[in-house]
Amino acid sequence: MELKNLLGHKAVDMGARFFGVADLAVAKEAILEQGGEFLNAFPRALSVGIAMSDRIVDLLPRHKEAIIARTYDYLYYTVNQSLDRIALRLSATLNEHGFKSLLVPASDRADTKNIRGIFSHKLAANLAGLGWIGPSCMLITPEIGPRVRWVTVLTDAPMKTGLPLTNGCGDCRSCVESCPPNAFTGRSFDPSEPRESRFNIQRCIDYRNLLEKKIPGVRVCGMCVNVCPIGKKKKSA
Ligand code: SF4
Ligand code: SF4
Repeated sequence: MELKNLLGHKAVDMGARFFGVADLAVAKEAILEQGGEFLNAFPRALSVGIAMSDRIVDLLPRHKEAIIARTYDYLYYTVNQSLDRIALRLSATLNEHGFKSLLVPASDRADTKNIRGIFSHKLAANLAGLGWIGPSCMLITPEIGPRVRWVTVLTDAPMKTGLPLTNGCGDCRSCVESCPPNAFTGRSFDPSEPRESRFNIQRCIDYRNLLEKKIPGVRVCGMCVNVCPIGKKKKSA
């Protein structure tokens, strides 16, 4: 079986709904600036997504209730663990076929100053042709909007890559309007602009830290995920 198909089948068998391969050449400069020169060894990326359960995402307007916040938090944690397991399997498969790989964990803030990981999962998913980036800075899939969590495996394996999708948000700004601490500016995604032009992440963190004072150990909001009409229309599960 062709390597890309083999990897895709493995990912789906382990619970993934989305799988694609990205050519990173167009974003090389930004990638090296974010993660470091060592990422130069990886011209492509596998992007893998698991759908979040609609039942709990639909309840996020009640995120200030402990039972909802804790259930969503547990789902988030479990999905991240599943993603990392899939990525580990794909990474090992690439190595077995003689290629380099680097697993970028589903949820890891390696850069605590700028509050981000060494590589953007959304960028990989976008370049793999799995969705576009909305004004909420989330990856929006045509199938279920932002109701997806992502993981990435960087590699040098030669594989057919996807083509980025064009932005399908239109005039909608529901995610921007729904954010309790007004963390979004409303600007559309533009790869040449820094994240700060669209998203004041500190406002999001401060708001969720405030919620944690009422529900210890849990910092859940997710309104920007809940309201997206693309996710609401086309349910994941
Ligand atoms: S999780 Fe909540 S606070 Fe954070 S950006 Fe989304 S809507 Fe705003
Ligand atoms: S809520 Fe609207 S603007 Fe925000 S990502 Fe979804 S479609 Fe795009």
